[in-house]
Amino acid sequence: MSVTEIAEALQQGDRRALARAVTLIESTRPDHRETAERLIETILPATGAATRIGITGPPGAGKSTFIERFGLDGVAAGHRIAVLAVDPASKRGGGAILGDKTRMNELARSPRAFIRPSSAGVSAGGVARRTREAILLCEAAGFDTVLVETVGVGQSETAVAEMVDMFLLILPPAGGDELQGIKRGIVELADLVLVNKADGGLAEPAHRTAAEYASALRLIRPAVPQWQVPVRAVSALDGTGIAAVWEDVARFRALLEQDGAWARRRAVQARDALWSEIGAGLIEHFRTAPSIAGRLGALEQEVAAGERTPAAAARSLLAAFFGGAGQPG
Ligand code: GDP
Repeated sequence: MSVTEIAEALQQGDRRALARAVTLIESTRPDHRETAERLIETILPATGAATRIGITGPPGAGKSTFIERFGLDGVAAGHRIAVLAVDPASKRGGGAILGDKTRMNELARSPRAFIRPSSAGVSAGGVARRTREAILLCEAAGFDTVLVETVGVGQSETAVAEMVDMFLLILPPAGGDELQGIKRGIVELADLVLVNKADGGLAEPAHRTAAEYASALRLIRPAVPQWQVPVRAVSALDGTGIAAVWEDVARFRALLEQDGAWARRRAVQARDALWSEIGAGLIEHFRTAPSIAGRLGALEQEVAAGERTPAAAARSLLAAFFGGAGQPG
């Protein structure tokens, strides 16, 4: 299929074409990459309309269960929902992201939903690019809500926060010391905090945890000045509070669109992505350059052993890179 044909099938909402296009952008083969980039440029005018929502939380908090419930409610309300996963580690113990398809069985069966599990073996930088491009493909295919799931460990949530419009943190009901286990930085990224499992015997602890987070969050300066981050006790299992989350999403978007912050955020994200692509490209070029590759190992060791300063070693390598033959450090 030509790029034009894939683009056309995609824009008709063909989910098989979408799945194939995502496979294409995941490929590291240079000819695939070139085709992928042409495809993205072709569909670019048809992108940008969706609400991009990042979802994170510790394993077991109920992210998959939430996405299934939230997604089904959304589909019932007329939305088209795409779900992507970011998993740079791809060797987690606590169950793969979206890997266990049975957890999102019903949503996966809906013709108005598209679910793409994470693929293994992609570098951290590659994950960010792949996900950014997959979001665009989903938008071109007409999905109005794109959910990007990540686990609450590692660096992936920062990367995801930088490519979505709204960031959701899902937590289990827990109190006291267990609250300390969540990295403060992640809480600060959140535009909405959900304490899940507010049902049965966990309802009371969930509401208590939500109240504790709400007071803790009041001490943090909100990322969006006019938006006090809501903290909600919800149940992904029985659906309690899920409608309110859809309302929060709509309210958040309307608020940011009102004063142009929505578009400004997107513009900043796109510019940042440009620079990280430039950085990644330069570093790749640098690492593999003949004048560098042979010297890198030894210099790294000298730096590690404290025999050379990082600054001096870097200067010598850069001189070698730009000067070809190199200069003494
Ligand atoms: P994830 O690892 O964050 O994706 O968590 P899962 O969605 O796989 O859920 C982990 C466990 O918590 C599963 O056994 C779910 O059935 C359970 N769970 C998820 N949401 C709820 C909820 O709202 N209430 C209760 N009681 N259990 C839930």
